[in-house]
Amino acid sequence: MARVLFINAGSEGHINPTIGVVQELISRDEEVVYFTIEAFRERIEKTGATVRTLDGQKIITAFISGGRNYLLERINGLLLTAEIIIPSVLEQIEGEHFDYIIHDSMFGCGRLLAQILKLPAVNSCTSFAETKESFDKMLEQLSKNIPSDVVKEINDEYQRLTIRVKEKYNVEIGSPYEVYCNPAPLTIVYTTREFQPFGEAFDQTYKFIGPSISTRLLQENFDLTAIQEKRPIYISLGTVFNQAIDFYKLCFRAFGNTDYTVVMSIGEKTQLSDLGEIPKNFMVKNYVPQTEILRYTKLFITHGGMNSTHEGLYYGVPLIAIPQSADQPIIAGQVANIGAGIQLQMDGLTANQLSEAAEHVLTSPSIHKAVSDIRESFQKSGGYHKAGDEIFEFKRKYDIKI
Ligand code: UDP
Repeated sequence: MARVLFINAGSEGHINPTIGVVQELISRDEEVVYFTIEAFRERIEKTGATVRTLDGQKIITAFISGGRNYLLERINGLLLTAEIIIPSVLEQIEGEHFDYIIHDSMFGCGRLLAQILKLPAVNSCTSFAETKESFDKMLEQLSKNIPSDVVKEINDEYQRLTIRVKEKYNVEIGSPYEVYCNPAPLTIVYTTREFQPFGEAFDQTYKFIGPSISTRLLQENFDLTAIQEKRPIYISLGTVFNQAIDFYKLCFRAFGNTDYTVVMSIGEKTQLSDLGEIPKNFMVKNYVPQTEILRYTKLFITHGGMNSTHEGLYYGVPLIAIPQSADQPIIAGQVANIGAGIQLQMDGLTANQLSEAAEHVLTSPSIHKAVSDIRESFQKSGGYHKAGDEIFEFKRKYDIKI
C-alpha cells in the first residue's frame, strides 16, 4: 500500500473523471489523501479517500486577480493561486509521508508541489493534452493580438511571480507551459489517442485511457423512471459557463410543445423562475444526474465541455455542440470532425436553426454510424481501470512500494 497525495482545486469537470481513478486506487489498497474544495467533499469521501480542503473562494479570487482577458493573464492567475494553495497544503500535511502525488493538469499548482515535496508525479489531464510546442505556438499566436505594452506588463508580472515562488520554495518554473499544463513523468488523459487532436504527437509518458465515467455515489433528486421510456433530448451548458437565460428560452421556442421530451439542466446560477413559463414537455432543473440521463438520451445539446462530450459519446448519444468558452470550441470542432454531431455558434443562433439541426442530427445515418464507432472505441478504452494499470506501472518504474 502506498500513500497518494491527490491535488485538485478545479471545478466539477476536473473532479468527475478522477472519482473512478481514486476508487480504483483504493480498491488496489492505496491510501488516498485528496485535496479539493468543500463543494466536492461528499462525492470524494464516498470513494474512501480522506478529504482535506482548500479555500475555494480565495483560490478563485487569486486566479481572477491575474486578469481574465488573455491566456497570458490566466497563467499569472494560476501563479497567484500558488500563494493560497501551497502554504495550505504544506501546513495540512506537515510531518506526513507520501509516496507519490497525482495532480490536476491545471488547478492546484501540482507541479510545484511535486517539486517542493520531491515526489514522483502523475498529471491528471481533464482536457485535451498539449505538447509544449503546440502550447508555445498557441501562446505566441494569441500574444500577437494583444497590444505590446500590455504583453510587456503581463510578462513582467510573470517574471515577478515566478521569482517570488522560486525564492520562497526553491523550485524552478521553466516556462508558462509548466504553470498552465503541469507536465509530469506520467500524464493520464481522459480521452483516446484517436480523439485527441494530433494524438500521434504525444510520447509514451502520455497515457490516453479514455473517458473515466463512474457512478457518482450521490443521492440526486431526479426521477429517472419519468424519462426512461421517452428517449429525451438533453440540454446542458455544463457547470461553469452556463448563465444563458436567452439560450434556455430559445430552447423552449425550438422544442416547446412538440412531441419531444426535453430535460434541461440550467446550472446553479440561474433561477427556474427567471425562465418564465416552462413548456409542459420540458423538465428543467438546476442540476441533474447527467451520466444517468445520458443512458436514455437520443440527442445531447451540449456546450462541448470535455466531460459532457465524452459522457455523451460514451453512451452513444449524437451531439449538437454549442461552445461557450475555454477549450470548448476545440472539442466541439473535434466532434464535428469525426462526424459524431454538429457544431453551432451561440452568436446569432435561432430557435429554427436549433430545431432543424436537431432534426438533421436525429435522422442522419452517417452521424449515427460515427457515434456508434466512437462509442465502441470509448467503451473499450479502459477508463479508470486502465488509469489504475498505468499508475501501477509508473509505481514499478519509480520503485514505489506496491
Ligand atoms: N454535470 C452533471 N449534472 C449537470 C451538469 C453537469 O452531472 O446538471 C456534470 C457532467 O456530467 C460533467 C460535468 O458536470 O461531468 C461538467 O463537465 P464539463 O467538462 O462537461 O463542463 P464544465 O462544467 O467544466 O464546463
